[in-house]
Amino acid sequence: AKSSGRNMFRFYEPAMNERIMERRQLEIDMRHALRRREFRLDFQPRYEAAGQHLVGAEALVRWHHPTKGLLPPDSFIQLAEETGLIIELSDWVMQEACMNALTWGDTMMVSVNLSSVEFQRNDLVERVAAALKITGLSPERLELEITESVMLEDAAAALITMNQLKALGVRLSMDDFGTGYSSLSYLRTYPFDGIKIDRSFISGLDHSQSSEAIVHAIVSMGHALSLTVTAEGIETVTQLGKLTELACDQAQGFYLGRPIASEPFKRVVSEHQAQATH
Ligand code: C2E
Ligand code: CA
Ligand code: CA
Ligand code: CA
Repeated sequence: AKSSGRNMFRFYEPAMNERIMERRQLEIDMRHALRRREFRLDFQPRYEAAGQHLVGAEALVRWHHPTKGLLPPDSFIQLAEETGLIIELSDWVMQEACMNALTWGDTMMVSVNLSSVEFQRNDLVERVAAALKITGLSPERLELEITESVMLEDAAAALITMNQLKALGVRLSMDDFGTGYSSLSYLRTYPFDGIKIDRSFISGLDHSQSSEAIVHAIVSMGHALSLTVTAEGIETVTQLGKLTELACDQAQGFYLGRPIASEPFKRVVSEHQAQATH
């Protein structure tokens, strides 16, 4: 077995070797990245669907890598999940997000994305509670965004964890709604407060009648279940108009505001608050 293990290397193409080396290097880099403060959060504003009233922001992590430059989450989250570093990273994300929300006045919400890996351990509730305690943010101002993969892994355990999270007072929303298999049945069983309609349905609103019918159905069903319905990935005024017509509750997307760094987002909040008092 040993010799065949050694021989295995002969089957690798040089390109594959390179990829493995690069991955390893990225993993090593990631182990130092938290301490070196290379991760940053961007905040994407979230509005009431008419697009006028700011209600909060979604925190989106970025890695300012010393040599590779700005890395988007899709390029390192999976590696963080595979290596377990996601836990430390997500602890930092939750605390940083809550700390930022404290500077936005008393009512703005902050949303944080959780990984399904975090549900596969038994310390998620403790970790969320710790982030709230350390920062002092009221739990009802923190929203946790969860994708369907969480329920697919271990449905029973996910339900228990989600009920415990609800008991802390945080909000739960189902992210990328409509892209999975059984999104609908999950809404009956799990204690969600909201759903985020996936961008693929929103981009269809410009030209496709069927997208409009689907979004209409999702909004009606969401409201029948007393859920807050958010549309994500709004890129055009047409899409925003249709969503307002369809009575979607909240809206997020490049048309309304791109994800931006902490300081500029604080300025967006203060400008908004100054306008609101006039
Ligand atoms: P997501 O949670 O579905 O986040 C929305 C993504 O769509 C973000 O990409 C955002 O920048 C992008 N987006 C927002 N509005 C628009 C729009 O109008 N048009 C288009 N084309 N895109 C838009 P981003 O920041 O690259 O994040 C990608 C994914 O990475 C997120 O998808 C989320 O699943 C994951 N992610 C981000 N931050 C975290 C984190 O702190 N923890 C975990 N576990 N995952 C994260
Ligand atoms: Ca999200
Ligand atoms: Ca999403
Ligand atoms: Ca996503």
